[in-house]
Amino acid sequence: MARTALVTGGTRGIGEAICIALKDAGYQVAANYGGNDQAAQAFTERTGIPAYKFDVADFDAVADGIKRIEQDVGPIDVLVNNAGITRDGTLHKMRPDQWQQVIDTNLGSCFNCARAVIDGMRERSFGRIVNIGSINGQAGQYGQVNYAAAKSGIHGFTKALAQEGAAKGITVNAVAPGYVDTDMVRAVPANVLEKIIARIPVGRLGKPEDIARAVLFLVADEASFVTGTTLSVNGGQHMY
Ligand code: NDP
Repeated sequence: MARTALVTGGTRGIGEAICIALKDAGYQVAANYGGNDQAAQAFTERTGIPAYKFDVADFDAVADGIKRIEQDVGPIDVLVNNAGITRDGTLHKMRPDQWQQVIDTNLGSCFNCARAVIDGMRERSFGRIVNIGSINGQAGQYGQVNYAAAKSGIHGFTKALAQEGAAKGITVNAVAPGYVDTDMVRAVPANVLEKIIARIPVGRLGKPEDIARAVLFLVADEASFVTGTTLSVNGGQHMY
């Protein structure tokens, strides 16, 4: 029977590419999004994948949203924690709300969503959780103490939960994208982006599909021996 997958922030950018790759591979897919109804509606029309609106930073909203998805689509076997935001600024100018929103949306969401699906995965002795980190969580980035801290936290979260899930058939991994051509990166000033691309050995930004490919590998039934790891997909920009 087809596995069921939930991709948070699945209606745009990297999340959309992950949804499409999973659907093409035979998964039943549900996407989540935060507030952009127009983008979500267009996504569903394009892909035929249902989109569910709830704030991944809100524990109770996530619990309700995931309950709805499980009733409509089925028990979640695969969770891709992809939703993320940036609120950049150097530390000496950063407001507490910029810090908190980024921590809650990028990192708190991993706890909220994993917490809502973990009991079912444990009962069924199968689960795949992939958390989308970032090159900037691995290497740091000027103007992003909030984002780098949240993404770096994802990598620790991944390793700890991998240890808890291992005996129950649940793998937990992270994918750390480099710079990928999405709305998030299009918001970077052109002169800064030019300098970023000059530092990418393959000479281009990533495509959302480059990241989707890595996720598809990690969530496969056959990837049961891969857990607690981070797969960097960054065109060689940063090598661990
Ligand atoms: P986009 O900004 O293109 O899309 C973000 C998605 O997340 C949208 O679907 C958005 O929904 C959703 N979202 C945002 N906040 C919330 C929320 N509170 N609750 C639910 N959904 C929410 O992002 P990208 O595709 O560029 O990034 C995807 C992931 O990859 C992020 O975690 C990002 O940090 C990470 N990443 C991206 C890189 C890049 O270069 N693009 C590099 C490294 C990591 P809505 O449309 O409703 O706003």
